[in-house]
Amino acid sequence: MIIYVHIPFCHRICPYCSFYKHTPGDTDIRAFLQTVLTEAKTAARSSALTEDISTLYLGGGTPSMLSPSHLRELFNGLHDVLPLAKTHITMEANPATFGHQKATLFKELGVNRASLGIQSFNSHVLKTLGREHSAEQAAESVHTLRNAGMDEINIDLMFSIPGQSEQDWQHSLNTAVSLKPDHISAYNLTYEEDTEFIKRLTNGDYQENEDTNAQQFQQAHHTLSHAGFHHYETSNYAQPGMESRHNQSYWLGHDYLGLGPSAVSTINGTRWKNLPDTAGYIQAINSLGHAKREAETIDAEAFRIERIALLLRTTSGLPKTYFKDSSQKFIENLLAEGLAKIENGRLTLINQGIMLVDSIAEQLV
Ligand code: SF4
Repeated sequence: MIIYVHIPFCHRICPYCSFYKHTPGDTDIRAFLQTVLTEAKTAARSSALTEDISTLYLGGGTPSMLSPSHLRELFNGLHDVLPLAKTHITMEANPATFGHQKATLFKELGVNRASLGIQSFNSHVLKTLGREHSAEQAAESVHTLRNAGMDEINIDLMFSIPGQSEQDWQHSLNTAVSLKPDHISAYNLTYEEDTEFIKRLTNGDYQENEDTNAQQFQQAHHTLSHAGFHHYETSNYAQPGMESRHNQSYWLGHDYLGLGPSAVSTINGTRWKNLPDTAGYIQAINSLGHAKREAETIDAEAFRIERIALLLRTTSGLPKTYFKDSSQKFIENLLAEGLAKIENGRLTLINQGIMLVDSIAEQLV
């Protein structure tokens, strides 16, 4: 079992972001945190949490913008209601939201891994992305976490951003490598529904370019592989042994419990999403005892389709048990064209196949 906690607050809203988030406004943050703890306590009492909790991931939004007293209240409360003694804990952090004292607190509260949303080390690209922090602050935040004794640090980077040249991307990759993080996620920007960016794509201000996507993907693969990072998933690179445990559990299809507004859970073949509205979430938990919406059954076929989409992106590959007999010819062609290999009963994409993951997954479904 893995657990995700969604903290929906951000100081300001990035124009490409589609997660459920908002500025705190007049939200009573203490009441919100108490509500998350009530939800956690209810889950702990139910049959949902019968297994050990291997990982806890706090995302958002920006969990690191919580004040020290709010962070203490949240973490102490989670430790009180959930069996977290052996749990590996990741927290997302924005470089603009912490200094040495808070970084020391992260460590003291049991955070094992800080995941830094940096995206770029170029000032003009950060401006396009509407990020709150500067490039210098981003680099400094890695040192701050290290000095505070943080065990594992991830840096999130993004490519194919409007106005980001090949040189800009190379600068971001080189700077990230020079900071010696344990893990780097390098994502292709996607234009999501209901964002400022998709409006600008639709009205022609921004363009998508498949060649740029491919070229910048290769640039990341080349630079990070040469720097000793293992490219273990389409968008993820790790130093040996530093792969994201939480994400790996999710890709493998382990049950997960989501706490907080908009958080998704999948337990025993049922998936639901919490109400994506902070005020509504607080009210629902405190009056109904849950904030579940959009429940659906994940049957064996839905589970198989998800594993194809997620495991095909990894270097551990997709077990043969997920293939249909009718895919045999297609798989033989992939092998013959050098786009995939089969080892130990698992299909893994190689060479150009890695970039064609989405269309190959569609064919295997
Ligand atoms: S800081 Fe993160 S969660 Fe908040 S708006 Fe920006 S990308 Fe989205």
